[in-house]
Amino acid sequence: MKITLRVCFFAGVLALSSCATNPFTGKQTMALVSNDQLFPTSFQQYDEFLKSNKVVEGTTDAARIKRIGQRIAKAAETYLNANGYVGYLKGYKWEYHLIEDDQKNAWCMPGGKIVFYTGILPVAQSDAGIAAIMGHEVAHALANHGQQRMSAAYIQQGIAIAGNVAITDEQSRDMFNQYYGIGSNVGAMLPFSRSHESEADRIGIVLMALAGYNPEAAPALWTRMESSGTPEILSTHPANASRISSLTSLVPSAKAEAKKFGITSFTE
Ligand SMILES: [Zn+2]
Repeated sequence: MKITLRVCFFAGVLALSSCATNPFTGKQTMALVSNDQLFPTSFQQYDEFLKSNKVVEGTTDAARIKRIGQRIAKAAETYLNANGYVGYLKGYKWEYHLIEDDQKNAWCMPGGKIVFYTGILPVAQSDAGIAAIMGHEVAHALANHGQQRMSAAYIQQGIAIAGNVAITDEQSRDMFNQYYGIGSNVGAMLPFSRSHESEADRIGIVLMALAGYNPEAAPALWTRMESSGTPEILSTHPANASRISSLTSLVPSAKAEAKKFGITSFTE
């Protein structure tokens, strides 16, 4: 938080860019890279990823990923609209694809581009388990976590000093690959920080509950994840006992939030 504020101040002094408010936490975050700049790169990388990987089509599981994804996206929109952030999802082009691959992994790139690998389905176990992963991944994207890290890196590397105009397409793409290095280089993505992890947990569990999935599935999922060998997803989303117990403590408030929207029964 302190660092973010300092960097925001630094950026402000340089009159380079503004800070944005995170609608889920009310916190100020850096926004040196706008969605308008980021989304085209993200969409292009996503398309390239789909072209070079085996997309599962027409199966029950593929349909399941799409159905749960649509419900999570709808929940995000409902939540944002109800909290005065109408239009926050402008430019989002949601897509949900299942990839034939043994990895226990899933991700969401900026602008709502989601991938699940078949390898994670046995760990997810149920629709609510999938929704717990999806809610968490979508939360990172909605809270612009990757974008914040990119903004910090721009400053660190002095790229932003001369203004955003100094960023070449190539630098921008390199930076994107460094922080979302999923398109061409699976596993190259840097781990999220502990604060971003807990923020994505808090937002994600609300999203899954609003989408009608039992939030109790979230702590159960990460517990299974830890005991299922070394799932690739843990390298970018570090889990530990304290994280799982905080998720457990978030279940009642997630259910209460869902109740505000008339959701009182949940899919397992
Ligand atoms: Zn995460």
